[in-house]
Amino acid sequence: MLTLIKNAELYAPEPQGKQDILLAGNKVVALEKEIKLSSTLPVHVVDAEGMIAAPGLIDSLVHITGGGGEGGFATRTPEMQLTDATLGGVTTLVGCLGTDATTRALPNLLAKVNELNHLGLSVYCYTGSYQFPAKTLLDNVQDDILLLDRVIGVGEVAIADHRASHMSVEEMIRLASEARVGGMLAGKAGIVSVHLGDSPEGLSLLNQAVSESSIPASQFYPTHINRNQNLLDQGVAWAKRGGYIDFTTSTTEQILASGERSAADALAYCLALNVPVSQITLSSDGNASLPLFDENGVLIDLQVAQVGSLLQSIRDAVNDKQVPLEVALACATRNPANILHLEGKGEIALENDADLMLLDAETLALEHLWSQGKHMVEQGEAIVCGNFE
Ligand code: ZN
Repeated sequence: MLTLIKNAELYAPEPQGKQDILLAGNKVVALEKEIKLSSTLPVHVVDAEGMIAAPGLIDSLVHITGGGGEGGFATRTPEMQLTDATLGGVTTLVGCLGTDATTRALPNLLAKVNELNHLGLSVYCYTGSYQFPAKTLLDNVQDDILLLDRVIGVGEVAIADHRASHMSVEEMIRLASEARVGGMLAGKAGIVSVHLGDSPEGLSLLNQAVSESSIPASQFYPTHINRNQNLLDQGVAWAKRGGYIDFTTSTTEQILASGERSAADALAYCLALNVPVSQITLSSDGNASLPLFDENGVLIDLQVAQVGSLLQSIRDAVNDKQVPLEVALACATRNPANILHLEGKGEIALENDADLMLLDAETLALEHLWSQGKHMVEQGEAIVCGNFE
């Protein structure tokens, strides 16, 4: 199946001017100013005049089997559906467990990874969960990363949080070593995804782990760094030390009012402080729970984090914070692809995977999406759905 996209303004993610893009099967096979096909083979031609072509987004943290449950069984959030991702421009995801690794176990997570891959996305996952010692499918973290095809790291292991296992520095170093060696042997990132909670110690455990071992800061991938100003400022120092920082795009007015900085705001803040763009990523934390408490701390509402918040935060960064589009895009395309060692992902380039979106050049609304060369969204409407949505 050939697809020819004509007259797109290409952000690869860096701007490259007007280009035609030819997709064959699941690959990008030509990128030129003007592509003319002389063959009589059937070609699906899409005129992208007035549209921006950008890489499909990579969402590095999604609770694809659902999350939450901290308010009891009735507050368990639902599984992610295919169109939650595709209508948000997302073509690659990393699934993970969260607080609850008892009723949402790894076999379930791997089954969901397989389901979403079967439907046309590119989906990976982390072994473990918030907990330490990590619950694994095989004997240990190293074995899971080395032997299970789609497992690329461990996490999100929780620190600085009342729900965390309160690991020692030595335990964090050992976990990172296991993940690192599993990753090296399998040619994977072996990344340690780290959930940061509200406790003021923030990143101190990771800073100690890096100071007291030969594990590089880049082995860790801390998330929710925009949770409060203290953590954000620690994140700036961590990034300048060579670490990565991830901002969570799902939020509510209530959470923002309690001190969280929006992902778009946090991104602009870090750029103004000269944090290298390569160290920053955005992720949705999709299908996590976003609890709303009243003034007495009683749970009164529970929202579900949305994968679609990732593209919305890119729009917000560009429209409200004057972040260049290519910079905002890089934080959810090239950067996570590099950090997670996802070959063929994160850039529109020759022989890369045909994962790309067309956005309205004025509004940045999603018009079209291809994932692995499969047309998933056409003129803003999902044309492929999961079996039960
Ligand atoms: Zn988390």
